[in-house]
Amino acid sequence: MAALSSGSMRFDIVTIFPGYFESVFTQGIVRRAQAEGLVQIRLHDLRDFTHDRHRTVDDRPFGGGEGMVLKPEPLAEALASLGVAAKLPGAQAQSVPPRVILLSAQGRVFTQAVARQLAGLEQVVLICGRYEGVDERINDLYCDMELSIGDYVLSGGEPAAAVVVDATMRLIPGVLGNEASSEFESFGATDAEIDADIDGVPRSQHGAGGLLDYPHYTRPAEFNGLRAPDVLLNGDHAQIRLWRREQQLKKTLKNRPELLDRAPLSPDDRRTLQTLHEAHE
Ligand code: SAH
Repeated sequence: MAALSSGSMRFDIVTIFPGYFESVFTQGIVRRAQAEGLVQIRLHDLRDFTHDRHRTVDDRPFGGGEGMVLKPEPLAEALASLGVAAKLPGAQAQSVPPRVILLSAQGRVFTQAVARQLAGLEQVVLICGRYEGVDERINDLYCDMELSIGDYVLSGGEPAAAVVVDATMRLIPGVLGNEASSEFESFGATDAEIDADIDGVPRSQHGAGGLLDYPHYTRPAEFNGLRAPDVLLNGDHAQIRLWRREQQLKKTLKNRPELLDRAPLSPDDRRTLQTLHEAHE
């Protein structure tokens, strides 16, 4: 495979429903990133790697039980077509192998920290499961990581792949118009501190560092009887900064208190939190 120019990232998605992605990758930032050559997305129809008349990709589970399982051979062929070799004992490592990710409810949870790690790679292969899942030997032989997008069960890996591509590609330099914008959003502040090695166990049990974003307002200043906070309208930037930080702490305390355990907090932050706690009691 040809070397990719720096700053450009390639996603290869193996799926039985390539049509699923027709809308999600043809709108907004992800469309523009592709048009500008910053991101390449290639869809691979798993059925193209079957050899029987019915293009069979699934089979009944050994040991019995509900549903069907994606069989290993078409997936192995699809991966081979992408230059991914099985990790057989004693095999030579490839020079820059694409990272292979299995979307799975049993995976480690996808967070902003994982998105940042992926955004530093040249090529990522995403395998979308269906039915009851994927024959485990595909995970054992080919996959660098199992990723879950959250503690719920989807009917397929496609929505998860769309989430991983979206969150990752917007961190590639040049994709967002304003380079700073991804640093100042929810989870943005301290990812570097909690990044684990891509193959390793995440150091943080929480996965996401930093605080949640502060609330945003735009015109009109009054809407359905609710005024936008006056502090945002008076142009005092020091005041605005203080207010926004306080709102971040407030929202994080309310919706995701566990994030506060890891976020780097200043003495002022701690005083604000103390006040918020007291107001609650
Ligand atoms: N039997 C499995 C669920 C299979 S759901 C279990 O209980 O864990 C079918 C496919 O949807 C999976 O193979 C996986 O690719 C995808 N999937 C389901 N939930 C997911 C999640 N939370 N994150 C990522 N992929 C998921």
